[in-house]
Parts: sequence; C-alpha cells; structure tokens
Amino acid sequence: MGLYELIDYLVRLKLADHRKALCALYLLSLGESRSSAAERCGSFKGEVNGYLNRLKEKYHDGQRALVIVKYVIPLLDEIQPVVKDNKCLICGRNLYHIQVAMTHLYTKHKDLVESYVNKIIEKLKLLVQS
Ligand SMILES: [Zn+2]
Repeated sequence: MGLYELIDYLVRLKLADHRKALCALYLLSLGESRSSAAERCGSFKGEVNGYLNRLKEKYHDGQRALVIVKYVIPLLDEIQPVVKDNKCLICGRNLYHIQVAMTHLYTKHKDLVESYVNKIIEKLKLLVQS
C-alpha cells in the first residue's frame, strides 16, 4: 500500500462521482474537524470516519495521506465522472451502490483508472519539484 493505491482510491471516488467523500476528505486535509467536514459536505460523522479509515488502508501514514489528498483533489478537476444515476456510462451496467461502483471501476475499467492515476502522479511530481 502506498502512493499509487492512495491516488487510485481518489481517482475512483471521482470517476464514481462520490462528491461527499471527496468534499469531506478535502476539508479534513485543510484541517477541518470531522464533524464540521461532515456537516459542510452533507455527510455524517460516521461516514467521514469511514472515508478516513479507507484512506488509511491505502496509505500507512494517515497524516501524510491527508497532505497528499490536499494536493491531489484539485488535480482531479479534469476527470469527468463515468457513473451517473447509479449507472456506468461506459458499459451501461447498473451500479446500485457506491461501493459497487468503486469495485466495478477497479475490476472492469482498470485501464481507464490506471491512465488517470499515472497522469495524476506525473502532475504531482511536477508540483513537488517546483
Ligand atoms: Zn462499466
């Protein structure tokens, strides 16, 4: 688990159009409390804890993961979601739950996810160098 897995998770949140999770993680990365992030993103504190736990599964150091989140989330702007109204716009499959969508992207559209992850990693490198 490392940088690749962390960015893969964030890219799939974006592709799955999971705005609440991205909103909450971004606010947490800016130093907001979990309850405030939940309220401002239309989420619940329990859900926010879940997003944070999943983040920590992807990247060993939770604090450092949030620093990376702060830089990566604005870079996701150029990515268009491919899940709309619980449906995959690429293959037409019904995805009745966000977790199903996340897994679907991982297993069925790996190439697309990978190409975005690699692009984001390149951009992140440029940011770190400058
Ligand atoms: Zn699909």
